[in-house]
Amino acid sequence: MSTALIPYCPQQRIDGCERTCGAAALMMVYGSLGGRPRLSDVWRSVARPGNHGMRVPTHLLAADAIANGRPAVCLQVGDRPLDALTALHEAGWRVIVNHLLAAHDEGHFSVLTAIDDHSVTLNDPLLGPNHRLLHDELLALWTPPYRTEEVAGGVLVAVGPAKAAPTSKDVCPACSSAFQLPRELGLRWDGPWDRLWRAAFCPSCDALACPPLPHTACSA
Ligand SMILES: [Zn+2]
Ligand SMILES: [Zn+2]
Repeated sequence: MSTALIPYCPQQRIDGCERTCGAAALMMVYGSLGGRPRLSDVWRSVARPGNHGMRVPTHLLAADAIANGRPAVCLQVGDRPLDALTALHEAGWRVIVNHLLAAHDEGHFSVLTAIDDHSVTLNDPLLGPNHRLLHDELLALWTPPYRTEEVAGGVLVAVGPAKAAPTSKDVCPACSSAFQLPRELGLRWDGPWDRLWRAAFCPSCDALACPPLPHTACSA
């Protein structure tokens, strides 16, 4: 069981932008792994212009972690989202959850700090550290019955605790950039996946990768 402490980082106004939760979430992950970057540097690395000002495309959180020497992957969970969170947490992987902010369509990012049989605890860059939600409360925000521009549903970024292994030759079929699927999470390019996962997204171009066998359909 992972007992890693996830130091809290609130989102802060940077370059006139208030919605810096993605960068703050990544700061918490880096902090838990011994890194001490500046929030403003992380923000400028991952923020891109969107329809409502600067925003953070989820896959770029994985790209930034990879650039910092960590194995990372942007994933969409399958039919057992809570089991997926538990598996990552117990394996010591840090998890950034892409979820709705209350009843709004707006996307938000928080870091998983604990999960048990009834509840999930998040370090929420807006609402505070160790923000506790019942399973159903989390699922309503994380896997809503509809997708929004900023929340596809069931999407997370997993960042590994170990330094990235020597790079493999796995590349994205869409953009030919490096796109590694961590085998220790049950993902691979050349075989079936653990059913916890429905899809992965390229850290460079956000292209969708799905398991090669038809046991799960891609919904993203
Ligand atoms: Zn937010
Ligand atoms: Zn790509």
